[in-house]
Amino acid sequence: MSFADLGLSDELLRAVEESGYTEPTPIQAQAIPPVLMMKDLIGIAQTGTGKTASFVLPMIDILAHGRTRARMPRSLILEPTRELAAQVAENFEKYGKYHKLNMALLIGGVNMSDQIAALEKGVDVLIATPGRLMDLFGRGKIMLNGCSLLVIDEADRMLDMGFIPDIEEICTKLPAQRQTLLFSATMPAPIKKLADKFLTNPKQIEV
Ligand code: AMP
Repeated sequence: MSFADLGLSDELLRAVEESGYTEPTPIQAQAIPPVLMMKDLIGIAQTGTGKTASFVLPMIDILAHGRTRARMPRSLILEPTRELAAQVAENFEKYGKYHKLNMALLIGGVNMSDQIAALEKGVDVLIATPGRLMDLFGRGKIMLNGCSLLVIDEADRMLDMGFIPDIEEICTKLPAQRQTLLFSATMPAPIKKLADKFLTNPKQIEV
């Protein structure tokens, strides 16, 4: 299996090659084709498995393909911590260097006015921790009804940190017609329940 077999665009394959990766990891090989086909997905995988690229790569192609002039964010990635959110943003920049996608990193501990300025310019991807996202939403600074692609990453850590009620609330503000990807190292009962409620006929993969 090579990256070229997964259905990614030539620009993306070039960025991947320049990252020095020669072949997809098992989660990338299994997740990328169904995500490109706009399916919902549950990925049971630890960090270190190449999980981030398994959603960032197909997201870049989906977003680049469905380009609109709308200023509303078209996708949202939820991460439990600032550090993880910042890492995902770095991945987006690295793999997305041949695509001009706008991104906003919405995390705590950072000046909110810069984040608001980024939102006002119009973004394709929001990468956020639940607390800061809810805060900005409560201030009327974010429209979530154009986010038709949602990633809930590290769902079991979200559970440990008490973020499930926030995630449920965020999900209700997104369009019901959307693609949802959920990643978790383990699948405790509350995460299964969350997946049952907010994903539609998901493909489940485990590495
Ligand atoms: P992650 O599980 O997403 O945190 O990724 C773990 C590490 O694997 C990161 O340092 C990535 O840069 C690296 N990585 C991701 N995909 C590949 C790949 N296909 N080949 C080699 N390294 C990779």
